[in-house]
Amino acid sequence: MELVETVEELNNSLRKHRNSIIGLVPTMGYLHEGHLSLVKKAKKECDFIVMSIFVNPLQFGPNEDLDRYPRDLERDFDLARQAGVNVLYHPNVKEMYPSEPLITTKVSNKISNVLCGKYRESHFDGVTTVVAKLFNQTKPDRAYFGQKDAQQLAIITQMVKDLSFQVTVVPCETVREEDGLALSSRNVYLSEEEREQAPILSQILNEVRDGLIPRKWNTPDEINQYVRERISTKPLAKLQYIETLEYPNLQATTSLYDKQIIVALAAYFGKTRLIDNILFSAEGESHVPNDDEIQIASSHRNRS
Ligand code: AMP
Repeated sequence: MELVETVEELNNSLRKHRNSIIGLVPTMGYLHEGHLSLVKKAKKECDFIVMSIFVNPLQFGPNEDLDRYPRDLERDFDLARQAGVNVLYHPNVKEMYPSEPLITTKVSNKISNVLCGKYRESHFDGVTTVVAKLFNQTKPDRAYFGQKDAQQLAIITQMVKDLSFQVTVVPCETVREEDGLALSSRNVYLSEEEREQAPILSQILNEVRDGLIPRKWNTPDEINQYVRERISTKPLAKLQYIETLEYPNLQATTSLYDKQIIVALAAYFGKTRLIDNILFSAEGESHVPNDDEIQIASSHRNRS
């Protein structure tokens, strides 16, 4: 595996592989099994895998964790190499933004003023700007994104359509710990007590799914209310939002069973903000992972 740090080096590495199917896995590093599952899927579908590691300042708000975001390039290098990444692209901020960008992408309020976007002003403008740059720098055939960040996935899919990027966006299932907690680089911030209570998020979402299958819920409000009540039983969890929307267009819905829906939440455990979601479609197209599909991350548990 090659480590490259500049656009020029990236171009040089990719030049001889332009006839191959190139897969891109964008990340912010501090890799875990969730990231590596994206690589695994990419390996099945592509000849040459580029993983990017870039903690993008443009997508962090002034009071967010940009400075303390966990980083460990040496360890990431080993994990990426073992997973079969061909090129690890690790630009610094100056390489990605040689000067203050005067032209950036703007995500419509229709899809950015809900879920995480409602609480993270201009976050998705920052995400789409850096992903557009990564697409232009790498020119991948396929790009892999996790459903864990379902709003991001929906917005990037929309960006590809609206801005005519020649890339196929591939959604990937959420990888979880054995107790259901979705893997996240930020899980490392959790205290022991918080870590014990954090699986409540996926437990509640599973309960919601268990109610959706026999059509127990009548309205999104009923679901949202149930989640609020259940989460209030955990003293360390502070719910930021719970929303039940149509997916992937992220519009409000009154019905639950004639379209794909997302039930998504964010909650604080101390200063650590965790997100999780389920996608559900009553038409037999459920994207909710069943027990067989849930990939259990048995390793690296100490970090997450
Ligand atoms: P991040 O490094 O957190 O920006 O994530 C990079 C990519 O990995 C994004 O497409 C995420 O959605 C995806 N990802 C993060 N956590 C998980 C997970 N637990 N399961 C699957 N994909 C994930």
